[in-house]
Amino acid sequence: MFKSIKLKLFAWFLIIFSVILTGLGLFLYFELKSFVMSQLDLQLSASLQTIADVMLIEETHGQLQMELWELANVKGGEYSKKLSGHYYQISSSSGEILSQSPSLSLAEAKLPIFKDSAAPRFAAITGPNNNELRVIYQSMNFSLGTLTLAMAESMDKSFELLENFRDIIIFTLPVVFIVAGLGGLLIASRTLTPLKTFSSKIGQITEENLSDRVDERNLDTELQPLAISFNKMLGRIEEAFARQRQFLSDASHELRTPTSIIKSYCDVTLSRDRAAKDYRDALTKVGDSVNRMCDLINRILVISRHDTKTMQIRPVRVNLTLIIKDVIKLLETTAANKETTINFTDKSVIVSCDREAITEVLTNLTENAIKYNKQGGTIDIAIGEDGDWAITTIKDTGIGIPSEEIPKIFDRFYRIDTSRGQTTGSGLGLSIVKAIVDAHNGKIEVESAVGKGSTFRVYLPK
Ligand code: ADP
Repeated sequence: MFKSIKLKLFAWFLIIFSVILTGLGLFLYFELKSFVMSQLDLQLSASLQTIADVMLIEETHGQLQMELWELANVKGGEYSKKLSGHYYQISSSSGEILSQSPSLSLAEAKLPIFKDSAAPRFAAITGPNNNELRVIYQSMNFSLGTLTLAMAESMDKSFELLENFRDIIIFTLPVVFIVAGLGGLLIASRTLTPLKTFSSKIGQITEENLSDRVDERNLDTELQPLAISFNKMLGRIEEAFARQRQFLSDASHELRTPTSIIKSYCDVTLSRDRAAKDYRDALTKVGDSVNRMCDLINRILVISRHDTKTMQIRPVRVNLTLIIKDVIKLLETTAANKETTINFTDKSVIVSCDREAITEVLTNLTENAIKYNKQGGTIDIAIGEDGDWAITTIKDTGIGIPSEEIPKIFDRFYRIDTSRGQTTGSGLGLSIVKAIVDAHNGKIEVESAVGKGSTFRVYLPK
């Protein structure tokens, strides 16, 4: 409903506060009501007891009749005023009224005749003048028989008190409610201030100052985890940006060499008229550089497809042996040039993979095994299985890879010490291998010893 946290907090505050206040108001009202009623009942009991005591004393002196007459003609006090709201009445068990307070008799009014009751009883009745009365009555035995004493008090005063209290609550509650609401709004906006500060700090981070971080130590405890996660995310973005920049600069650098070659051949060849053979030679060199550029661009394309997760894998069931045989055939001449022997332990292992892509992986690895091998070296290729994995092992007897370099060789454009004798290569081969193996949900392992050789193991899910 509300999109703003501040309004949500405010609404919740109002709802909770109004429930509490209304509950409290009702509780106080009913508590007060029951207190007022109990006080009234206590007062009535005390008055009844007083009259009963006097009657009992006069009874022992044989002057009960006289006392009844006096009670009906009391001169002063609240019982002597007409319809004062304070009444008493004494009746016999036959229903005859023997005595009543002048407050009743002056108005020719009477209380109802109550039934005999040995224990004191309370009741609410409508008395003279339609007044709400609270009554206590009790029957006692006298020489005149069983007499019922009834004392009544108007409830007007009690109702007035309760009404006043109710009015106070009704008028003060909205005021308290508004003040509390404003307080709630203030609390809500103060609570959210750190969030605003935090968001403005985030807003200051742009592409130019990606290395800046939000200082979580100055933030409230609740915001610290958010800042830590945000800083981690910034770190990842910064790394990704750096990788992209590096990739762009490496790619431009790699493309510059063949471009310069093409340019200089064109410039030199076109500087004067030449024989047809010279043009042919120049075009052949230009063609070589164009091929190199195409190869490079294709490799960059494979890697960027991997990055954007758009590399298309078209899996088919294929025997790995067939792929390896193709690769060996393709690299036969290259291996022969370096007098390298390729041994292959034939084994039929069927995997579901993109045939072209896996051929590229195994060609790259075997090409490296030849390229970084010593003259007259050996390459052992084997296929194995381990559970759900099909494992292709390519082992060479070449220059090996220093252990600290192993984690880096799959990075784009990374070449170990370009002076290791190999001028050809862009440092993209193993990145492509890893990208393709990743896209097949496979993995690749390297073991190497400098001067002895390297072993690459490609795991593909069968
Ligand atoms: P390059 O185009 O340089 O061959 P790669 O990505 O294929 O690029 O390999 C990255 C680096 O890893 C190479 O420069 C090389 O130093 C090292 N390397 C790869 N394969 C081997 C191997 N079989 N033996 C020794 N070093 C290797």
